[in-house]
Amino acid sequence: MTAAGRGSLAERGDPAQPTHVRLLAAGTAVLFLAYSASLVLVQRPADGADVLWDGVVYSAWMLMGIAIVIGRGRVSATVGLGWYLFAAYLALNLGADLIFMYVDSSGGGALVVSDFVYLTAYLFLGGGLVILSQRGRTVSPAARIDGLMLGLTASAVFLLFYLSKDPVDPRVAGMESPALLYPVLDVVFLMIVLAGLAPLHFRPTPATWVIVISIVAAGVGDFIYYSQVTADTYVGGTPLELTWAISNAAIITAALLPNPYNYRPRLSRRWTVFTPAAVSLVAVGLLAWTLIASGPLLVSALALGALALASVRLILTMADLRRAGEGYEQARQDYLTGLMNRRGFSELAAHWLTTVGQDVEPNGSVPPGGLVLIGVSRVREVVDSLGREAGDELLRAIAQRLQPVVAPFPLARLEGSEFADLVTSSAQVDDVAQAAVAALDAPVQLSRLSFRVITCVGVARPTARMTNLESCLRAADVALTQARHRGQGIVEFDPTDDPADDSTLGLMAELHSGLKQDELVMVFQPLVRVRDRRVTGAEALVRWHHPTRGLLLPDQFIGAAEQAGLIGRVTQSVLRQSCVVLRDWLDSGLDLWMSVNISGIDLMDENLPSMVTDVLAAHGLPAHRLVLEITETAIGADPERGLRTVAALRDLGVRIAIDDFGVDYSSLAQLMDTPVDEIKLDGRFLRTSDTAKREAAVSATHDLASAMGATMVAEGVEDAADFELLGRLGCELAQGYYFTKPLSAEAFADFCRRS
Ligand code: C2E
Ligand code: MG
Ligand code: MG
Repeated sequence: MTAAGRGSLAERGDPAQPTHVRLLAAGTAVLFLAYSASLVLVQRPADGADVLWDGVVYSAWMLMGIAIVIGRGRVSATVGLGWYLFAAYLALNLGADLIFMYVDSSGGGALVVSDFVYLTAYLFLGGGLVILSQRGRTVSPAARIDGLMLGLTASAVFLLFYLSKDPVDPRVAGMESPALLYPVLDVVFLMIVLAGLAPLHFRPTPATWVIVISIVAAGVGDFIYYSQVTADTYVGGTPLELTWAISNAAIITAALLPNPYNYRPRLSRRWTVFTPAAVSLVAVGLLAWTLIASGPLLVSALALGALALASVRLILTMADLRRAGEGYEQARQDYLTGLMNRRGFSELAAHWLTTVGQDVEPNGSVPPGGLVLIGVSRVREVVDSLGREAGDELLRAIAQRLQPVVAPFPLARLEGSEFADLVTSSAQVDDVAQAAVAALDAPVQLSRLSFRVITCVGVARPTARMTNLESCLRAADVALTQARHRGQGIVEFDPTDDPADDSTLGLMAELHSGLKQDELVMVFQPLVRVRDRRVTGAEALVRWHHPTRGLLLPDQFIGAAEQAGLIGRVTQSVLRQSCVVLRDWLDSGLDLWMSVNISGIDLMDENLPSMVTDVLAAHGLPAHRLVLEITETAIGADPERGLRTVAALRDLGVRIAIDDFGVDYSSLAQLMDTPVDEIKLDGRFLRTSDTAKREAAVSATHDLASAMGATMVAEGVEDAADFELLGRLGCELAQGYYFTKPLSAEAFADFCRRS
């Protein structure tokens, strides 16, 4: 096993230690206990040290313990250095102890030497603590500084009470002795560890717990030591030594305990701001007090130290704030174009809608101006053919074109190739919309080619009922969708056919759940062969069994579904249900095909062919059994893309019908380009009162269909006269109330068997 491998085990806190470590630990424990007992039981010589106990036994268990700590460092993958620093601390401590006992006590003025070593040891302890207490989260320098400040201030407060009871306290003399430094450092270290634990919500790992105990034990010992030194009552080899022995043993124990990753969510800001502020206040108070009451110098020194740290902390906080400020900006900026992004725009527009409106009209809240939503088509083509980078370049170029013409109003890129402009002056809304279209009229020069995009604009002006950002954006979106359907140009949202109308808005929301609850159901209307009146197929027509509004017809919700972006899910549900029914019919021996209506928006969805394939495959249906009905205009929105989808569908073997033929004005050239299998003449033509015109419409469509290799279907056949006309003109298929209204799947099957 590699060191790192073992390390991660130890890091996870696996309590099972290898045998040699366990033996070492047991040996250390026995010697430590023996040494501890000796401190109580064995009287030390007058010069303070006993060769066997303080020299041999003490050194032995300390050395074994150091080996354990080094071993822990070796297997620790991430905080090994921390353990090595602890080992160095213990080793230096041992060295200092020996120097103290043998050199100092033999009177060689070694106090300075051992103190020097002890203090050096403390540096290592501090380093180890910093590394080990940040298990699971990097503790910021600011948090460390907070810890230091807290430590200095706490020490100062303590000393203030401890030293100042008597202004001529002899213990003040201790200020000259380094002995006072130890308890102060202990407090400071404790605070550093606590600061490291703060981000972990003060839930230390077992190892850090024991380290806290170690510092507290050393602190108690150091404080008693300091008191004894200043009172000149200190003698070595007393049970006082036990405090340091326990402190050292605790560090060794920590090396045997789990120290797993200890992640906690970030601490609240209040904590991180409150701590330094409170500490600085106390430090200032202390400083003032010691100045006025001429308190102990040491207290002022510590308080000053804390204040100095507070100013460092301030610098760090300022840097943090600046970074946060930059982050705030970046979070509201579009990385690609440098424009505002959706978030920034939403905030700005929300502000405009709430505040500006009230400024202008104190009673009403309709702000002047409007939202201009600019949709740029054909960017996808560039990405598909030239790659993402070219697409990015194009978007940047578009942004650069748009920005100057819409200025001074703020422009944003909302997503993909959709831009939004907040025009805060009513008179300029139309100008901005036109300027945007004009700006993108000329081809955009990319590094490898020049490219012409199609620009559509949706405009929405807030009305009394449309004062939140949500409804304004939706209205602009509806207008943009309409503009896209027309292929180009500017459409202003018309509040009179308000889809933000409460009932429609509600409907859109309810459609979500309706889809989940299977509230969409299908009915089927037969397609009849005129020659022999045989039923050859069915058109699937969707119905919504709305829980409160009753049965809804497609005209009442398909538009809303398109606007709400739910049409894809509606189509999928319709296709699935129709295929289930068709499978049943085929299985029961009915030889039929199924016509399903799809929306123009479905044709823009590149996943449609694969969705159709999946549904057909799921029910084991051959593709030629499915006819997809599209309207003439469906392709118009984005002909290239629409035709691509139609071609892909036909490649699958699916047949294509042009629905409601003759109603919408569309280009004959485009119709010729569309590969179709069926042309469905809209029912309105049969309602034409002028007999000659009626016959002309039917026979012209019939001729056109024949020329294109397609079958003609006459829709809306309501009576025998209609039917007779179709027979006379040689039409192939008919559909209408004359045969039957749309039926349920079962009724349809019965209908077929009867006719
Ligand atoms: P469409 O595809 O032209 O469907 C024919 C519509 O005419 C149906 O109305 C049908 O009930 C009605 N109809 C049939 N025979 C006659 C007749 O003799 N006289 C008259 N006056 N009407 C007749 P429906 O079911 O209300 O559907 C309306 C439109 O909604 C459909 O027109 C189609 O464009 C759309 N639609 C229906 N189902 C779906 C669907 O599943 N998905 C999508 N995207 N659109 C659908
Ligand atoms: Mg249809
Ligand atoms: Mg139709």
